[in-house]
Amino acid sequence: MRRRAFLALAALGLSGRPARAQRAPRAGKSRRVIVVGAGLAGLAAAHELSQAGHDVVVLEARERPGGRVETLRAPFVDGQYADAGGMFVPSHHDLVLRYAERFGLTLQPALPPFHARLSYVRRQRVVANWGGRLDRLFDLAAEDRELGYAGLWDKYVAQGLASRSAEALDRLSVADLLRAQGASAETVALLRVGYLDMMGDGIDSYSALHLQKRLAAAGDSGERLVIAGGAELLPKALAGRLKEKIRYGAAVVRIEPGAARPTMVVVEGGRRERLSADHVICTLPASVLRELEIEPVFSAPKARAIKALDNENPTGAWNTVEVLCLGGKCVHVVNGKVNLVLTNPRQPAADGTMVPLTKGRLQIQSEGAEVFYRGIEIRSIQQIPETYLK
Ligand SMILES: Cc1cc2nc3c(=O)[nH]c(=O)nc-3n(C[C@H](O)[C@H](O)[C@H](O)COP(=O)(O)OP(=O)(O)OC[C@H]3O[C@@H](n4cnc5c(N)ncnc54)[C@H](O)[C@@H]3O)c2cc1C
Repeated sequence: MRRRAFLALAALGLSGRPARAQRAPRAGKSRRVIVVGAGLAGLAAAHELSQAGHDVVVLEARERPGGRVETLRAPFVDGQYADAGGMFVPSHHDLVLRYAERFGLTLQPALPPFHARLSYVRRQRVVANWGGRLDRLFDLAAEDRELGYAGLWDKYVAQGLASRSAEALDRLSVADLLRAQGASAETVALLRVGYLDMMGDGIDSYSALHLQKRLAAAGDSGERLVIAGGAELLPKALAGRLKEKIRYGAAVVRIEPGAARPTMVVVEGGRRERLSADHVICTLPASVLRELEIEPVFSAPKARAIKALDNENPTGAWNTVEVLCLGGKCVHVVNGKVNLVLTNPRQPAADGTMVPLTKGRLQIQSEGAEVFYRGIEIRSIQQIPETYLK
C-alpha cells in the first residue's frame, strides 16, 4: 500500500492494517470517498474504507482491476500462465501476506532467482545460468573449473566468511578474502562479476565483514513467495469484495483537490461527469498524474516531483544521460532535464568517519532490462551549467 493511501486511511481513523477479521471501527460519521485507480493501492484503500462503513466508489480507467499486477493466461494451454507485472512477495510485505491469508490465497516459493542472467563480460554478451558458461571466459585451474560457480562461491566466499571472526573479516577487503582462501586472479575475476562488484567501489573497496552483513540481511528477509495461480488473484479477491463499487472504463481526466469538496471529471463511455466526495484518494502513478488537469495546481515542489520523475524517451529511442559531479554536488540529467540533485555525498573512511565522496570508480547499472550504450564519454568539467541548478 502506498504511503498516501495509508495517510488517507489514517486521516479517516483507520490504521490500514487488514488483519482484523471483523469490521474496522469507524471514527465519526460515514464519509463519501472516491478512490482513483483500482491497482493494489486503490483496492486496498477502498476495501478497508468499505469495511469500516464508508461510502466508497473506485474509478478505474481500464476494464480490469489490478493495474500493474496482471496475469496472462492466453494463449497458453493447460492452465499455464505468466505474471506480466508484480509477482514476488518478499516476507516483509506484511500487508500482502495478510491479505493473502485473509482471502485464502496460497503462497508458494518463487523459482530461484538468477536462473537466467545476461552479462557482458570481457567484451562478450553471455546469457548464463548462475555463473555457468561465464567460467569459459576465464582461465581457471582445472580444480576450480570442476567446482562450477556454486562450488566456487562456497569454497571462496561462504567458507571464507564462515571460518573467520568478525574482527578478522573487518580487516580484509572481499578481494583479500578471496585471495586468502586461495583463489587465483582469474577465479577472483570471475567471482567479482555482478553481485560482489556492485557494492561500494568494487571488491577491493569494501570489507568482508560488510559482505557478511549484507548476506545475513538478505537471508533474514526470507524467501520470495508468489501467489499460486497468478498474482492477479489478489486484486481480483479485493475487487470481488468491492463489486459494484468499482466503476470500470471510468477515466479521471481532471481533479480539483482544493475545492471545499474535492471534485473530479471522469469520462465513462464517452460521457463526461463531475463527481465530488468528502475525500479523494488518488493512487495514480506520477506518469499518469502529470497528464491530468489538476486545478488548483499542486504545490511547486510536489508538481516538480511529479513532473520530473520520468524524462525518458519512448522505448526504442535513444536517451542522453549526463551525470555531472563537481565539488559537493552531483546532478543527474536525462534528455536535458534534471532528474536528481545530490548534495554533500559522503562515504565512510577507513577509520569509520564520514568523508566527502570526491573520487572513485564509475558504475553504470541497469535493473531488470537490457540497455544498449551508443557512446560513453568521460569529460572533465569546470562548472555545472546554471540551467541545471535552477
Ligand atoms: C514488470 C513489473 C514487475 C514488478 N514486480 C514486482 C514484484 O515482483 N514485487 C512487487 O512487490 N512489486 C513489483 N512491481 C511493482 C508493483 O507491481 C507495483 O508497485 C504495484 O502494482 C503498484 O500498485 P498501485 O496501485 O500503486 O499502482 P497501479 O497498479 O499502477 O494502479 C493504478 C491504477 O490506476 C488506473 N488508472 C490510470 N490512469 C487512470 C485514470 N486517468 N483514471 C482512473 N484510473 C486510472 C490504472 O489502470 C491502474 O489500474 C512490478 C511492477 C512491474 C511493472
